Amino acid sequence: GDLLLTITQTGADAADLGYLLHKHPDRVQRFSLPFGAAHVFYPEATDTRCTAALVLEVDPVGLVRKGRGGSGFALAQYVNDRPYVASSFLSVALVSVFKSAMAGTCKPRPELAASAIELEAALPVVPARGGALLVRQLFEPLGYEVTTSPIPLDPTQPAWGNSRYVGLSLRGTVRLADLLSHLYVLLPVLDDDKHYWVDDSEIDKLMRRGEGWLPQHPERELIVRRYLKHQRSLTAPANEQLVAFDPAAEEDAAADDAQVSEANLEETVRLRDHRLDAVEATVRATGARRILDLGCGPGALLQRLVRGRYEQLTGVDVSVDALEKAARRLKLDAMTDAERDRIALLQSALTYRDRRLVGYDVAILQEVIEHLDEPRLAAAEENVFGQAKPATVIVTTPNAEYNVRWETLPAGQFRHRDHRFEWTREQFQAWGNGVAGRHGYAVRYDSIGPVDAEVGSPTQMAVFSK
Ligand code: SAH
Repeated sequence: GDLLLTITQTGADAADLGYLLHKHPDRVQRFSLPFGAAHVFYPEATDTRCTAALVLEVDPVGLVRKGRGGSGFALAQYVNDRPYVASSFLSVALVSVFKSAMAGTCKPRPELAASAIELEAALPVVPARGGALLVRQLFEPLGYEVTTSPIPLDPTQPAWGNSRYVGLSLRGTVRLADLLSHLYVLLPVLDDDKHYWVDDSEIDKLMRRGEGWLPQHPERELIVRRYLKHQRSLTAPANEQLVAFDPAAEEDAAADDAQVSEANLEETVRLRDHRLDAVEATVRATGARRILDLGCGPGALLQRLVRGRYEQLTGVDVSVDALEKAARRLKLDAMTDAERDRIALLQSALTYRDRRLVGYDVAILQEVIEHLDEPRLAAAEENVFGQAKPATVIVTTPNAEYNVRWETLPAGQFRHRDHRFEWTREQFQAWGNGVAGRHGYAVRYDSIGPVDAEVGSPTQMAVFSK
């Protein structure tokens, strides 16, 4: 077996750890698991430090013999690196081995289970898609001091660089039950490769283990999406439940967002909020009453705007799927007729003339133009600026110069596979000035997101006005 996890309590009450874990520090204990066995022992038990170690033994052959075959449970999933790393196996082991500790119960000393204590968790090998950066983004908001150490792909071949595994250590003053729940949820999220079939019951597990911390977590959507393995039928309801848990939440569902790409999901989620703020503020400043969201996608912006006192909100997209999601997100079916009257979702392609788009004060193209190839962009320009002719047009698009600042984005790659182009600030302004000149608009440019002195901001915005 391989050492997967040590939990250390430090400080004057270090001996409490044995109570909390319901394990006897003098003995090695063995637990049978569906996929093998777990062993718990205490390599260290002094007055000021007590360490419990968990070692896992995965039995790939036994797994298959037990006949848990079928969808999502193929042998191939068990014969690669699986047994050797902390992953969803460890999560399963945690609930089996530390069941009552995870539930936060300790019969002999109930007050102990309820108190935050000085704890350290060390995991020598953690698969981490998203690297050390994501590890910090997941654990730091929960109050841990996070240390990661890179693990080389092959120690004898330093030129090959680092593997996708890291050594991880967490320190914090937390309840043991919380530490265990955080590990239970976040290790598979880091691994991003859950091994057992994900079904509806996983939502319940996530809700239960995430209680008290997941609704407020800044990376909540990434966590939900990865934990539920990108299955939209699961992530959508889970996100809804979590939003209900967290009344302050206004983030939209990342899993539903057409433009969220895997490599930079972390940054994207935060940037999207900046973008929605900026666009919403710009719309408000125009005093517009009738608003057209062109290429509205699953309705992130509409969801923001619907709270304002606008007379008419219309979302337009070529994708029926996106419009259905927008309708669900806006909860159109729960609205009164009067509320619903001011909202419309239209299926329409920006490349074809559509008279329904005439008569608005402001049109927004948020992260849409980069999805159109050159001839389509020219057609859309004609439709928006030449035919629909709202007093204001707001356009946002990625600033390609900023891409070098995204550690996780490989050089030369676009932020989303459906992007036809990503422009530098100069390219965007050349296009914008051309459009303004051809259609009699004035134009100004703005930055969205953190501004880097050299490369500018991640998103750029043009505001055209008549
Ligand atoms: N504005 C949304 C979605 C951006 S993703 C947001 O910022 O969150 C780009 C959207 O443009 C997708 O929903 C896609 O379906 C839509 N789109 C792409 N080409 C289009 C076209 N020709 N006409 C209308 N919508 C289009």
